[in-house]
Amino acid sequence: MTSMEAATAMMKRPYEVEGGLVRLRAGRCPECGAVYCPARLVCDGCGHRGLEEILLAPRGTIYTFTTVHQSTPEFRTPYHLCYVDFDEQVRVMLPAAGDERPRIGEAVEIVLGTGPRLVDAEPEEGPHALMVAWTATGKGEGDV
Ligand SMILES: [Zn+2]
Repeated sequence: MTSMEAATAMMKRPYEVEGGLVRLRAGRCPECGAVYCPARLVCDGCGHRGLEEILLAPRGTIYTFTTVHQSTPEFRTPYHLCYVDFDEQVRVMLPAAGDERPRIGEAVEIVLGTGPRLVDAEPEEGPHALMVAWTATGKGEGDV
């Protein structure tokens, strides 16, 4: 498989579901170890072409978040956007599932949901948005 074919395959479905856990597809540079999510063809760090595909851990930690109060009409507001750190040393922005205010440092897991959109482009496919939800043990780490 060429690097272009691999990158195309990764772009079609950005996640895998294993044992009920959602894992994001990412790319790791075999030269310098940099990780990118979503994956890319060329490493920004060293210029190496052909990143290897990896699956991120199904859980991460909230680095920070923002609350969106105004958006275009197809989005229900307010909603929270979270930057989530993964053990693989990569940070990914994902919307939070539900209305509860996130806390920095909370453990979260990736889930499939409907996302904050009110208008779903392809509703027949069901939940399709990658989101974060609190893990059962996540509460408390960010409590003050
Ligand atoms: Zn590299």
